[in-house]
This record gives sequence, structure tokens and C-alpha cells, in this order.
Amino acid sequence: MLSWPLTVNRILEHAERWHGNREVISVGADGGIVRKTYAQCADRARRLSAALSDRGVRTGDRVATLAWNTGEHFEAWYAIMCIGAVCHTLNPRMDAPNLTRIAEHAGTRLLLVDPSLLPLAQAMHAACPTIEEIWVLGHSGDRTLNATDALIGEQQPAAWGGFGEEQAAGLCYTSGTAGDPKGVLYSHRANFLHTLMVIQPDVFGLRAIDTVLPIVPMFHANAWGLVFAAPAVGAKLVLPGRHLDGASLLRLIGEEKVSIAAAVPTVWQGLVDHADANGETLGPLARAVVGGAACLPSLLRRLADEHDLDVRHAWGMTEMSPLGTISAPTADTLALPEEARRAVEGAQGRPPLGVELRVETAGTPGSDAAGKLKIRGFAMIERYYGDSAPAGDDGGWFDTGDVARIDAHGFMHITDREKDVVKSGGEWISSQELEALAAEHCDVVHAAVVAADSKQWGERPLLIVQLLPGACCSDEDLLAQIAGSVPRWWLPDAVVRVDAMPLGLTGKIDKRALRDTYRDHLGSGA
Ligand code: ADP
Repeated sequence: MLSWPLTVNRILEHAERWHGNREVISVGADGGIVRKTYAQCADRARRLSAALSDRGVRTGDRVATLAWNTGEHFEAWYAIMCIGAVCHTLNPRMDAPNLTRIAEHAGTRLLLVDPSLLPLAQAMHAACPTIEEIWVLGHSGDRTLNATDALIGEQQPAAWGGFGEEQAAGLCYTSGTAGDPKGVLYSHRANFLHTLMVIQPDVFGLRAIDTVLPIVPMFHANAWGLVFAAPAVGAKLVLPGRHLDGASLLRLIGEEKVSIAAAVPTVWQGLVDHADANGETLGPLARAVVGGAACLPSLLRRLADEHDLDVRHAWGMTEMSPLGTISAPTADTLALPEEARRAVEGAQGRPPLGVELRVETAGTPGSDAAGKLKIRGFAMIERYYGDSAPAGDDGGWFDTGDVARIDAHGFMHITDREKDVVKSGGEWISSQELEALAAEHCDVVHAAVVAADSKQWGERPLLIVQLLPGACCSDEDLLAQIAGSVPRWWLPDAVVRVDAMPLGLTGKIDKRALRDTYRDHLGSGA
């Protein structure tokens, strides 16, 4: 066969040629909508590529973006990647010292920044020796600053491609807040094949007639691949900007007729809470992709039953580009009684072709006991950026740090993160299972279970809840919700009520912060 490198420039070239009039919608800082087409975005991205080349950016150079999901960010991604440079996405919710550490580790040369994040970029620029220049994405009111709208004005469109499919396209760091930063370098080939994987019917199921809203940020794990997948099929792309509250998202879904949206559970919860409180519906939305953290069965049910959505519960990691598994019905599950079917399909699901996974249990092979979850595949990490040691074992298997089991239908259930498991008297208690049960209580908005130190047992579970405003249920009521469904010794030793559950940098409940705060909660006598 013809050698035809799988490089991501081909994705936007395809959209430009075959879906040129399809829209890319972007919400600006003032809430105003900016409308462009794939053809216009491709033209602007090519001219931005030319400006980058003029500035001396070469194949393999790292160019960072610090931005929300916007049209300019979309163009910057392709402008950087399609000339063989590496798009290093930075999380604007991190502070300047951590961002600087990451940018220096990556050797990032240029920083492309959303105008609203300029002070953060300037603090990084002052502290990071590798950053040569800042470019403001779009328009800047300040003439002393380089802004991409002005820089591309003079340029002719650059030619894209001409490098191999193993060339690096993107770089994303998993965590900058503790320990050494760990960079994951994505190749063009991995991104291209990941795109083909996620558009399949049993994965995200994208079609040309869809309107896709990636609420998951472009700065975290490739926005789950949707910024490649939408142009790949010619779907309309809606980029929500920085305001991800229920009201803003609901308006956008209604006005732009969004059919598929993807977000972490806390964002979905905000969306349905807002809709229910105001007697609104999710309108044209047909499919909800939920992932990035365990989704409570109660939320899955609300989305499916009350809002009539086709819900896809997905599991993945930055290290896997990021999709690992997703839940969609199979012939087997369709034949199950209703409740049994829900229990299976509520899990994190099954791997698409190209993802291999296995659960290493201490027990009998083939049993459905929980154990360490390991993965490998075409879009999985080999080694962290700058590391010489492989990230996986001899066979390439990467330890995800998750604990999982695989049921008789081949559905994977994440039972916990290894570091979140409560180890009581040498036995494991699944924090996620307790959280799911506690959240069934009608007064509970968010529930988290963390390990508190115990003299007698090593660790004991502690239930932390955020209740609905004005709710007055007792601790006994909350624990009664759990008792009966788990062994008695799993019952949390105490209940803590918080006004607002702390959220981490990517919108997931920050269990590390909770663990640190409540580790001594049970006192020395426990
Ligand atoms: P981090 O959350 O550490 O910043 P990632 O976004 O890569 O980095 O998160 C990957 C982890 O998130 C997984 O290892 C897993 O623990 C958790 N996760 C992701 N999706 C799910 C899910 N659907 N159910 C349970 N846990 C999930």
C-alpha cells in the first residue's frame, strides 16, 4: 500500500475540503458567539503556521497554549501541530510557579495565551528561562504585545505535513502540583488512530449531522480527542470558552442545537441541577459522554431516565490519549433484565480495538475479582517525556494505579484508585462503592469517602458530604443509606459535612485535599 503518514494535518485538510462550510462556534470572554467555518479556521491556522515558522519554530519545538476551549485555541493547535511542532497544552487553573516548572521541563519556547490569562502568562514568562515570547491569541488591545490576528494578517498560508507519523504532536503534563512533573508526548499517529477509534458508533458515535460540545478542556488530555474527531467527520464544533456553569452551558446547548457533549461528572451534575431547578430540559442533546472520574449511578440514571440521553460512561487517562474503555450496550446486555442491565452498562465499559487491558488479581485467573488494572495499546504511553526508563513493564503494560474488575459480560468496573482505597485491618474497602451508595440519599449533592488514620485498624472510612441547602438529615440517615448494601465493617466511622466539595484542577472532586484535611479526624482513640 501507499505510504500515507497518519498525521493530524490530514484531519483539518479533510474537513476543509469536504465539510468546509461546517461551523466552528466559539464563546468569547464577553459571552458573545464567534462563528467561523472549518475552511476559515484552516486558512487562519495555515497563516499562523507561517508566522510560527517565520519566528523560527521548527519541527519538534515546543509551543505552549494557555487557553480555554475557543476557536483561536483550535486554530493554534492545528497551526502548531501541522508543521511538526509540539503543542504543549497548559492548565490555566494551575498557578504560575507550577506552570513555569512544567514549561521549563518541556523546554517550551513560545507561549500562546488567551487574552484573559495574560497576567498568568506574563508571570510565567518572567520566571521561565526557556520562554522567548508570548503571543496573545486573537486580538490584543495593547500594541506592544504580539497578537495572532495581527501576526497572520501579513502571512501566506504555510504548507502542512512532510514529516513522519511518529513525529510528536502534543504534550500534556499529568500533574504539576506534587512531585516531578510528568509529561505525556502524543504522536501524530496515536492522535490520528485515536480519532478513528472514538468516532465509532459504540464509542462517541460521531456523525456529520452532529453538533459536538467538548466541555472537557483542550488543555487536559486532548479534550478526549473531540477536537480531532469533530472535523474528522464534519460535525459542527461548539467551543464553550471559560464559562462552564449550568446556565451558560444549557443556553449554548439549546441555541446551537448541540447533540453530543462530553464532560466530567461534576459538570454534568451542575448542568442537570440547573435544568431541574429551572424546569428546563437539555433540549436537543441526545448523547452524554461522562468520564474522567467515577460517575455515580444516581447521576447516570438522571441523565438517562429524566433527560432521556444516551449516556456513555468512559474511563481513560492522560497517559492513554486518553480513552481506555466506554460503556455501550452489547447483544448480551440488551438481553438482561432492566436492573441487571443498568448495573452492567453503568460500569466504565469495554475497550475499543487498539486498547488492551488486563486486571492482575492475587486470586484465580479468570475470576472477576478486583485487582491492578494495566493497559497497553497504540495510543498508550511508552515513557514519560524526558525519562529514559519505560513507564510500563517489560511487555509494555502500564500500571494505571486503578483497581478494577471485569464482569462476565466483559465490562470493566473501576472499583477505586489505589491511593483512594481504604485499607482497614489489612482488607480493602472501595471508596467509590460507598460514595455511590451515599449519593443515593436525596439530600446529597456530592459524596466522597476518604481514609482517616485509625490506631486500631490502620485506616477507617470517613464519609464527607455536601448536602442540598437547608437539608437536615442526620448522620444515621446517611449511613442507613449505605448499611445493608455492604459488609458492616465497611460502614464509615464518621460523617463530615462541607459547604462546598473541593474540586481539583480538572473539575474532579479533590480527594487528595480531603485526605490531607481529614486524615486525623477520628482522633488518636479510633
Ligand atoms: P488526574 O485525574 O490524575 O489529573 P487523568 O485525568 O489522567 O489525571 O485521570 C485519570 C484517572 O481518572 C484514572 O486513572 C482514574 O482513576 C480516573 N478516572 C477516569 N475516568 C474514570 C471513570 N469513568 N471512573 C472512575 N475513575 C475514572
